[in-house]
Amino acid sequence: MIPGQVRVVTRFAPSPTGRLHLGHAMSAVLAHDLARRQGGRFLVRIEDIDPTRCREEHVATILADLDWLGLAWDGAVVRQSSRLALYAAALDRLKAQGLVYPCFCTRAEIAASASAPHGNEGPVYPGTCRALSDPDLARPHCWRLDMARAVAIAGLLSWTDHGIAIAADPAMHGDVVLARKDAPSSYHLAVTVDDAGQGVTDIVRGTDLFAATHVHRLLQALLGLPTPRYHHHPLLTDGRGERLAKRTGAPTLATMRAAGEDGRALAAALARGEHRPKTALRAP
Ligand code: GLU
Repeated sequence: MIPGQVRVVTRFAPSPTGRLHLGHAMSAVLAHDLARRQGGRFLVRIEDIDPTRCREEHVATILADLDWLGLAWDGAVVRQSSRLALYAAALDRLKAQGLVYPCFCTRAEIAASASAPHGNEGPVYPGTCRALSDPDLARPHCWRLDMARAVAIAGLLSWTDHGIAIAADPAMHGDVVLARKDAPSSYHLAVTVDDAGQGVTDIVRGTDLFAATHVHRLLQALLGLPTPRYHHHPLLTDGRGERLAKRTGAPTLATMRAAGEDGRALAAALARGEHRPKTALRAP
């Protein structure tokens, strides 16, 4: 490392909603190796803010998988469930700027709104609750970002992906949820707050999260947080070209580990690109 240069910090941030598969292993290996090549730090963060989908048993399995792959992390494993006050504070900042509003709509109501185009994360919210004059906060509600106002305030934004400048276009996501009815933060808010709070300089993750980066870049601007470098990597696919996922029956790392496979050899193969994905990086 050159003296005075900020040390590279990467992270692997799984959600304990299921067991890890090869795609997760690739993200973890690439993030780990990027940090280690430059004498940096590799962090592990468990993204467990969704009580309806996260299971404690998966946390131990994830850590055992990383150990099996030979990926040692720096410092303590951070759990998002222990950082809820930080997300609430970030939401309060956005409330103070008049950039979020409470929304009382149910999923069914939003889905039924015929004109709503479908974005990456389901229907784009039609804005029903955006201008409520006297919202009853005793009723169950989430908090949504007023995207048009936020974009107007933030102005033109960009980030770098593999060193290439990408123009941020968060407006396509519409008024995204930042705090949910059933969870005190959304993925977008928690990940943005944590990456900055943990000093992450380089984010390595799959292209499935490329679209979400438009929102994260906007939140960084609104909250006065630094923008890390991004390295979205192509997703691994199975023999039929299907993206690896639990629901498509991808073998889990835990199964390979139990079968006595060599995790370190697997990590080395992934680092060499030998489990080559069959899909190209999605065009930005
Ligand atoms: N927790 C997210 C997931 O498991 C990844 C978050 C990220 O890398 O930004 O899909």
